[in-house]
Order: sequence, then C-alpha cells, then structure tokens
Amino acid sequence: MMRLPRFLYRVPTSLDEAAKILAGEGPQAMLLAGGTDLLPNMKRRQQVPRTLVALRGVEELRRTSNGKGLRLGAGLTLTDVVRSDIAREAYPGLWKAAAQVATPHLRNMATLGGNLCLDTRCTYYDQNYEWRKAIGFCMKKDGETCWVAPSSSRCLAVSSTDTAPALISLGARVRLVGADGEREVAVADLYRNDGIEYIARKPGEILAEVLLDDADGWRSTYWKLRRRGAFDFPVLSVAAALKLAADGTVQQARVVLGAVASQPMLSADAAERLVGDKLTDGAIADAASAAIKLAKPMDNTDFTLHWRKRVASEFVGYALRELRGDDVTELRSRLCRTSF
Ligand SMILES: Cc1cc2nc3c(=O)[nH]c(=O)nc-3n(C[C@H](O)[C@H](O)[C@H](O)COP(=O)(O)OP(=O)(O)OC[C@H]3O[C@@H](n4cnc5c(N)ncnc54)[C@H](O)[C@@H]3O)c2cc1C
Ligand code: SF4
Repeated sequence: MMRLPRFLYRVPTSLDEAAKILAGEGPQAMLLAGGTDLLPNMKRRQQVPRTLVALRGVEELRRTSNGKGLRLGAGLTLTDVVRSDIAREAYPGLWKAAAQVATPHLRNMATLGGNLCLDTRCTYYDQNYEWRKAIGFCMKKDGETCWVAPSSSRCLAVSSTDTAPALISLGARVRLVGADGEREVAVADLYRNDGIEYIARKPGEILAEVLLDDADGWRSTYWKLRRRGAFDFPVLSVAAALKLAADGTVQQARVVLGAVASQPMLSADAAERLVGDKLTDGAIADAASAAIKLAKPMDNTDFTLHWRKRVASEFVGYALRELRGDDVTELRSRLCRTSF
C-alpha cells in the first residue's frame, strides 16, 4: 500500500487567511483542493510538500455569479460546473470539457482550480517511487535525464488538463490572489511549454476565480481523444470557439490543442485562416492543417505519437464542423463515446 508522507495540515476559512499562510510557509507548502491529483502524487513521492493548505473551508472560492459573463470560483467542483445551466448553454466548450474529466466520483471532489493547476504527465513520471528509482528517476523529479528525449534540456511532460484548452478558446481569465495583492491573467498566458515550470502562477498565489466574458454570438465545443470512453486523461484534445455573423462569416476564432505539449497550444494561424470566410469544407481543412503544426506529441503518453499527430487534423475538422452546425452525434459517440 502506498502511504502519504508526513505533512502539516492547515485549514484556513478565508482567501485572505489562506494567502497569508501560503506566504508564511514559503515554497514548501502546497494548496490542496479536491486532492484527486495531489494526494496520489504525494503517495508516489512526486510532490512532497511540508505543509498542505486546504481550500475546502474557503467559502468564497465556491461562488458563482453571472451578469455580463460568468464568474466561477476555483473551488467549485467539476460536478458543480457540469450541473450549471449557464455553463451548459452559454459555454458548451467548457461544459463538455468538464463533463469528460475522470469519473463522476472524481468530479464530485475535483475542483476547477485544481484542474487548471494540474501537474503535467509522462509515462516515466506517473509511476510509483520504486519504479522511478529503478530507472534513476528523471529530470522532473529527483533525476537528471529525460528518458523521453535524453538530449533535451527541458522536461517534455504533457499538459493534460481538460478545462484549460476550453477556457483558452473562450478567452477566459483567472484571478490570482496572493498576500501582497491580486492580478488577472488570461488563461492563455497562464502556462509555459516546460514540463516542470508549467504554470506562470507564483508560489504564493491562489487561483481564486475564472472570469468568462459574455458569450453572445459565440459557439464553442470540445473534443477529447482517450483510450477508454468511461474515463481517461486526454491524449489529444481540441477546443474551438467561433463568433459567427448572421450570414455565417467567421468574425473571431480560437482553436486550441491540448495534450500535445507541456501547455495547451492556441493556434493563431488557424484563427487567421478562418476569420473573414464562411466555414466551407476547404476553410475547415485549411484551418486544421494550420492548427496541427503546433502538435508536437512525444512518446510519453498513450497511443503512438505519429497516429496522435495524424488524428489531430481530423479532430480539429470535427470540432469546426460541429460549430458549423453539422450533425456529428454519431461521430462523437463512435470516437469519443459521449452523447453530447
Ligand atoms: C483516475 C483519475 C483520472 C483522471 N482523469 C482526468 C481527466 O480525464 N482529465 C483531467 O483534466 N484530469 C484528470 N484527473 C486529474 C484530476 O482528478 C483533475 O485534474 C482534478 O480536476 C484536479 O482537481 P483537484 O481539485 O482534485 O486538485 P488537487 O489534486 O487538489 O490539486 C492539483 C494541483 O492544483 C493545485 N491547486 C489546487 N487548487 C488550487 C488553487 N485554487 N490555486 C492554485 N493552485 C491550486 C494544487 O496545489 C496541486 O498542485 C484524473 C485523476 C484521476 C485520479
Ligand atoms: S518528459 Fe522527460 S523529464 Fe519530463 S517527466 Fe518525462 S521523462 Fe521525466
């Protein structure tokens, strides 16, 4: 049985108190939300914080408000997001992403903030301590070599969060709160293409809220490739959002690939090719071939990397065809084993 290492457990009841504890404890402390990623990581000794600052007692992190746009507290569970009618109707890309994270049990515990701050993944890292020790560990934790690309100077572990690509496609921002103040950051700027330093959040900052602009005129969707339909991390995902004029001309576009690098990849090139035209088959194929230039899958997740690269273009096409209004129900059910 894998046991948790020893740690101090702090239970603040306000955001302000949580930020002060975090600042006082320094980099040896980590935030604990649903614990569905962090606690298994601690059991495998991938992350060994001296102190856990639990966020479950912070009521203000579980607030939702809508007026012009939507504000979602980072402490809302993914089940809360899935049960939100506004999320489902106005931000279907986010709703579909949240609904496909893990299993219903995990979504009952897992939070939106935890999903956005999720550690990167790799076949050589997501193993128990003894397994990793047997290969001399790796650069991401306790070792020096990257077993995926031994000549690489950086870790290439994969960003596997489902909600981040969706939120980037929706142009969302996050509010980060620290003991010294707060700031807003576009979700698109929250990540770095580095498997170790994958998030631009400072160690003393708490992701407090997700801020979404009014979705009027926007359509959005999310497609996820995984081995098991019941639950699995994405090995490729496509989040797309389009603002269409009344005659179907694309006015604004965002196409994001997930699980193909250490951060979600927003394709400016695909957007450029879509804007100003109608969603013809040719325009969709053109945008798909532009988007997949960003897909640089490595041999460190499920499925072969060449196949994952090849299907990326098809998945971008399916997402854009869905946004055009094509009936993709059968395709989605066959490939993603979901009915939405
Ligand atoms: C079997 C299994 C399947 C899974 N499948 C998927 C999947 O398909 N897709 C997917 O995306 N994930 C998946 N996960 C991972 C995980 O369950 C989710 O990503 C979940 O949303 C993490 O949220 P949490 O609240 O449990 O985070 P935690 O485990 O509590 O924390 C995760 C990280 O975020 C940090 N953190 C948490 N909250 C905040 C905050 N407010 N501000 C700053 N930092 C914070 C923590 O310090 C930690 O580093 C799976 C996990 C398991 C065990
Ligand atoms: S990509 Fe390399 S350094 Fe990063 S976790 Fe995998 S093996 Fe380790």
